[in-house]
Amino acid sequence: METLAIHGGKPARSTPLPPNYPGAVVMGEEEAGALAAVIRAQSPFRYYGPNAPQAVQSLEDRIAGDIGVPYALAVSSGTAALIVALKALGIGYGDKVIVPANTFVATAGAVVCCNAVPVFADIDDSLGLDPGDLERVYDDEVKAIICVPILGNPCEMDPIMAFARSQGIPVIEDVAQSCGAKYKGHWCGTYGDIGTFSFQMNKIITAGEGGAVVTSAPGLFERAVRYHDQGLFRDKERYGFGSDDADSAFAGQNYRMSELIGAVLSEQWNKLGALNRMTKANWHSVHSRLITELPALRHRRIIDEDGHLGSNYGMILPTKEAAAAFNHALAAENIGTFLLYCGKPVYMAPQFFRQRSAERGSFPFDYPFAQPVRYTEAMCPRAVDLMSRTVYLPISPLLTETDIEEIAAGMIKVYRGLCIESLVE
Ligand SMILES: *Cc1c(COP(=O)(O)O)cnc(C)c1O
Repeated sequence: METLAIHGGKPARSTPLPPNYPGAVVMGEEEAGALAAVIRAQSPFRYYGPNAPQAVQSLEDRIAGDIGVPYALAVSSGTAALIVALKALGIGYGDKVIVPANTFVATAGAVVCCNAVPVFADIDDSLGLDPGDLERVYDDEVKAIICVPILGNPCEMDPIMAFARSQGIPVIEDVAQSCGAKYKGHWCGTYGDIGTFSFQMNKIITAGEGGAVVTSAPGLFERAVRYHDQGLFRDKERYGFGSDDADSAFAGQNYRMSELIGAVLSEQWNKLGALNRMTKANWHSVHSRLITELPALRHRRIIDEDGHLGSNYGMILPTKEAAAAFNHALAAENIGTFLLYCGKPVYMAPQFFRQRSAERGSFPFDYPFAQPVRYTEAMCPRAVDLMSRTVYLPISPLLTETDIEEIAAGMIKVYRGLCIESLVE
């Protein structure tokens, strides 16, 4: 057997994997040209300017047209998109919102920033929200569900929507990590009542920052636009609705997208389909090598074989010690893998676990709920377990045949060298 690099053997690769920032690594002349055009027009603001290039508006039209919804609103970040979506739905003080235990802090943070309180649902072996846990965490103070397709793997939308409809509450899909993923042929983000996207650099396509809110409901869209723009609705002609009466006014934020960002993102959006196809092909190449050589290696359950992105290869190791050892040994082979969120449920982040917002006292956690919200480490036991032993291999769209051979060889070597198979029951 070959000596592992952690034991002084020759690493499977001589250099680290290319960085997995799919959108950023294909930035080029197209983005540079679009950005320069906005600068030359001296018109970087979306709603007025001397020769407004309307880059943000055309980005919105592209997004809506491609994903198949009537309304898309570009905003300044994925977090802003979540806050705008929650505000559009009227979520606020005294409301609870179901959030999956496996997600980025922004999902739960946006709920708290809207003065509502997150309640955490457990996950299943897809590493996404377990629809079977909704009943347990639901009570009639819950006013919405947020589901999160994790690292390219869609959520199980049919049972989630069925539960939400049975209780008469809306669903927000936080698609920050999965732009372009599909569930049963439909874009993730278009299944629920509102979808939110992020264009931060660690996502699929990027302008450094950016986000979008999508919906089919004109009423929600109008509220989303207003909240993101100081209560204003400036595009009455474009949409044929939106009124100036005193009843529709409310205080808002500034989460607008700049034309500079919109121009870059329009070019990134053009590249999205090809990027996702390259990534998916690479995922299949890695997968086909590993399943033949390592039949005992367990993978996270893929919810939609055709629709998942393949942007990360998720492996469920037998124990958390095995996962840590696997990660460590692969790093020495120059194959960077990771545990998502340090392998811990989002509610273990101190701001949630200790129920702290930026407000005085314990607002909004102080609301006198009929069923008080308390967090314990063990409240989502499958998240505690599965997150601690799921190792992800990033799959870049730019992997070469050689990269893939080296990755597969290194993973097989490490899996066998650490005798992980002997731990599988
Ligand atoms: C990154 C991310 C966000 C936040 O997006 P930003 O653009 O960084 O604000 C929200 N939800 C999830 C699941 C994310 O991964």
